[in-house]
Amino acid sequence: MLPLEDLLRLMDEVPVMLACYDAVTQRCLYANRAYAALGGFTPTEAIGRTADEIVGVEVNARIRPDLERALVEGRPLTYARSASVNGAERWIEVTLVPSGVPASLMFIVATDMTAHRAAEMASRQNADRLAKFMAASVEGIAFHKDGVVTDINPPLLRLLGYESPHEMIGRLTTDFVEPTELAHVRRVLAAAPETSYESLAVQRDGTAIPVEYTVRNMEWAGRQQRMIIVRDLRETHAARSRIRFLAAHDALTSLPNRARLDEHLNEMIALSGEQQQPFAVLFLDLDQLKRVNDSLGHASGDEVLIALAGKLRAFCDECNQHGTHAWLARHGGDEFVMTCRTGTRLELIGLIERLRHIFDTPTRVGTRQFRVTASIGVALFPDDGDTPTQLLKNADAAMYLAKSAGRDTVRFFDQAIAREADRALMIEEALGPALVNGEFELHYQPAVSADGMRLLSVEALIRWNRGDGGLWMPDEFIPIAESMHQFVPIGGWVIDTALDQVAHWRALGWLEPLVAVNLSSNQFRAPDFVDSLLAALTRRNLPGTCLQLEVTERMLMHEDAALQDALTRLRTAGVSLAIDDFGTGFSSLSRLRTLAVDTLKIDQSFVRELPASASSSAIVNTIVDLAHGLSMTTIAEGVETLEQQRCLQGLGCRVMQGFLFAKPMPAAQFDRWLQQLLARG
Ligand code: C2E
Ligand code: CA
Ligand code: CA
Repeated sequence: MLPLEDLLRLMDEVPVMLACYDAVTQRCLYANRAYAALGGFTPTEAIGRTADEIVGVEVNARIRPDLERALVEGRPLTYARSASVNGAERWIEVTLVPSGVPASLMFIVATDMTAHRAAEMASRQNADRLAKFMAASVEGIAFHKDGVVTDINPPLLRLLGYESPHEMIGRLTTDFVEPTELAHVRRVLAAAPETSYESLAVQRDGTAIPVEYTVRNMEWAGRQQRMIIVRDLRETHAARSRIRFLAAHDALTSLPNRARLDEHLNEMIALSGEQQQPFAVLFLDLDQLKRVNDSLGHASGDEVLIALAGKLRAFCDECNQHGTHAWLARHGGDEFVMTCRTGTRLELIGLIERLRHIFDTPTRVGTRQFRVTASIGVALFPDDGDTPTQLLKNADAAMYLAKSAGRDTVRFFDQAIAREADRALMIEEALGPALVNGEFELHYQPAVSADGMRLLSVEALIRWNRGDGGLWMPDEFIPIAESMHQFVPIGGWVIDTALDQVAHWRALGWLEPLVAVNLSSNQFRAPDFVDSLLAALTRRNLPGTCLQLEVTERMLMHEDAALQDALTRLRTAGVSLAIDDFGTGFSSLSRLRTLAVDTLKIDQSFVRELPASASSSAIVNTIVDLAHGLSMTTIAEGVETLEQQRCLQGLGCRVMQGFLFAKPMPAAQFDRWLQQLLARG
């Protein structure tokens, strides 16, 4: 048996109030610490006191009827009441246990229910709040127990197209989820029972709509249930796809833009790579858009772009209907890129021909009609590249070729272009420091009398000594330097260097030296060209008569006041003018006379055909006759054989230049050649 003392100590420790009263005297026989505390007593102090003293008169009066009833009936009785414990308001549940009928003792067991009651109140408030929320929410809400719908709010009814909750209550939640989504939904819920995820809901008429489901475990209507909040994502999705569209499309034409093009090419490459299917990338550049912009303004240019984009898109649609996968993007400015998957090269050519017909019909802008054409470059996957960058770069290079071939044409990319482009880049880089590093030198090729005995002039021809032992010929780097606008200072250096030689040659015994210098078009057109040239002569105290300038027919084509002025000033200074490569351009001889041209250099292409070609002979003969009639000198270029020399002599040509007489020579070698000639007398 547990000793009484221990039992009493234990009873003091339990979180329950315990007491025992004498039923007759109503005095306290026992109170544990918690109970005694109700009256602010210790257990010992409580003994012998009345209930009035311990719980207060007022409380005792309130519980009196209950107490009486318990004593009479001899059965336990429970009630709840508020009580003040140590000044704090508590809620206690009291059970009265009479010792028998009639009872001599009354046991009291009381528990502090304050926390419990607060939780219960909160829970009831929550339920109220939830009910209100469910009714008032704009979000759709449903409850279900084990997958069977138990409640649903009006917004969800409306969202799914039902009228009465009874159409949904009792049905399975899965009835309202798009069937293809069910596996996904199960996966999501298995991973996290309380979560949010996007899926599809099915409306009454079977339409699937994008929604976001949020699921929670909740007590509802007194039971643990699952709550589902359903948010309509239709607008969000529409906004999202609008943003996605804007990011991937050109604002003016609504065509896919460059970013999307890149993506598309990657997709094509991935797909075509797997299936070993080639495809073509067409780079289209409009030929006349700049003219439209310049003459009618950018708004009109935009109209042309929109109209052409429409035509090109229609073309692609038509291709797609016939099974040729064609796709179009705006690359920017007046450039479009089309990709198409065609079976054979022949089919591709057919497609391109049809594509070009688009540009046959004029495009209307306001009241005016324009025929806008396109230059088209084509690169093929995988032959011409297997990355978007490479394919675009090569299609672009081919397009440039089409442009320079006279516009309104198509060119296929080939490796030669790629090598040419690489080389051009390399040369461009190396050109920068070449002049400062003294990498250029001049070679000199004489022009002599038809019998080869007399020296009449010498032509300066530039060479690029690249330091790595390679000697670069002018045709290899001048066009690049010209296009980069890097040639003007080099051209100045040529004139200076050639003039430096003049005094030197005179010292060697060549009494009236004449040096011919080739000009580039940029150089000739530079505003200070004549000034600096005349200054170069003055600096060396040389007469203009020691210098001849070689220009091409093309360079004289656009006649204007500035050109006339330049030519007059040069002529006044005694500088003579020669037309290089004569016969390959289109100028009329009489016009050249008015431009004060002194010399025609008959192009090598005619000389090469001599003496066999009758037509070349006829041309050379005509040039020589007409030139002499206009007191111009002719020089036959590229004379390599004795037959050519004899033939040219017969045609009346008095001055010749070519390997037969001398190759272009470095300065020192030319000096020796000159000395030998002079020695022969
Ligand atoms: P070009 O003015 O028509 O020069 C004649 C070219 O024919 C030179 O080539 C010369 O070496 C070559 N040649 C001379 N005789 C014969 C021959 O008998 N047979 C053959 N097959 N060829 C012959 P090069 O030196 O390579 O110069 C090529 C072109 O580069 C020149 O054609 C000229 O247009 C340009 N050029 C050369 N130097 C300069 C320069 O300092 N400034 C500018 N702007 N252009 C230059
Ligand atoms: Ca020349
Ligand atoms: Ca020439």
